Amino acid sequence: MDKSSDVNSSTLYTLSTVTKPPVLLIVDDQPANIHVLTNAFQDEYQIKVAKSGELALKIARQIQPDLILLDIVMPGIDGYEVCLHLKEDAATMNIPVIFVTGKTESHDELRGLEMGAVDYITKPFNIPIVRARVHTHIRLKQQADLLENLAAIDGLTHIPNRRQADQVLATEWKRAQRGQIPLSVMMIDIDCFKQYNDHYGHAAGDDCLQRVAHTLSSALLRPADLMARYGGEEFIAVLPETPLDAAQCVGERLRDMVHQLSIPHEKSTNNDLVSVSLGVSSIIPTDTMTLEQLLVMADKLLYQAKKNGRNTVVAGDMIS
Ligand code: GH3
Ligand code: MG
Ligand code: MG
Repeated sequence: MDKSSDVNSSTLYTLSTVTKPPVLLIVDDQPANIHVLTNAFQDEYQIKVAKSGELALKIARQIQPDLILLDIVMPGIDGYEVCLHLKEDAATMNIPVIFVTGKTESHDELRGLEMGAVDYITKPFNIPIVRARVHTHIRLKQQADLLENLAAIDGLTHIPNRRQADQVLATEWKRAQRGQIPLSVMMIDIDCFKQYNDHYGHAAGDDCLQRVAHTLSSALLRPADLMARYGGEEFIAVLPETPLDAAQCVGERLRDMVHQLSIPHEKSTNNDLVSVSLGVSSIIPTDTMTLEQLLVMADKLLYQAKKNGRNTVVAGDMIS
């Protein structure tokens, strides 16, 4: 019989986990608690353990677990603070957090839930109930991941997402190669955005991202042009049939329009308004060049724009 029937018999996992079990990060300073939780979950999940808040943040950023079971009272940074940091960082903000704690007061629970935890379980806990709750939240996380992957639109800014950008890039690359016509791309990154979040708060950061995204995408005029959110506070523009000098002009216009929004940014190192830096690269693709090279080039130019003082456009042709 078909060997895959083994895998398919799992009712718990959806598509993304057919090959790999979900990863559960257990954060607790007490070996006994780690032991109990590991035993409860090791048959269904891949278990990672962190014995301190500091380590938990490091591991979470590195491996992006599917769910975190988080103790509150720990030496060093406590569970609340860990949760706060997780929710602030785009790389970890969508990982569901369940507090598992000896703190039984309702104001403690409220505090945890208000920080963005999806659940709050008090010790001593009942293993089957903890398992049931974890299963529910893992399933919800998997569904959210799946939907995000299927969608072509970024949930926060409502402009095309990276997946869409990658598809358009692949198509336009082939078209440019076939017709020997120029293709330009721009990597666009908000300046000092970490400081913006730190100073004005994450909600204001999201709001700022939305305004910048809207401005950038409305500034592209040709129907074939694409503006997408490439990740975090980074955007990509794909400009088919556009040589470098024209793309550089568009880049300058985008830079200026974002600056003209006049969003205050007291902590910016280059001026006191929100701004973007841009790397613009252009190519007429030959058979030996790759799309990857064009993107790496745009990234390097963006880095140069940051070095040149931000709120700046740096453009360059790819030489064959
Ligand atoms: P640079 O000028 O060199 O680009 O510095 P930077 O601070 O903008 O760059 P860095 O990569 O250090 O920080 C990016 C920040 O963007 C950190 C992260 O929390 C924030 N960020 C990424 N995505 C989101 C988001 O969806 N919402 C909010 N509010 N912040 C986000
Ligand atoms: Mg930035
Ligand atoms: Mg960045």
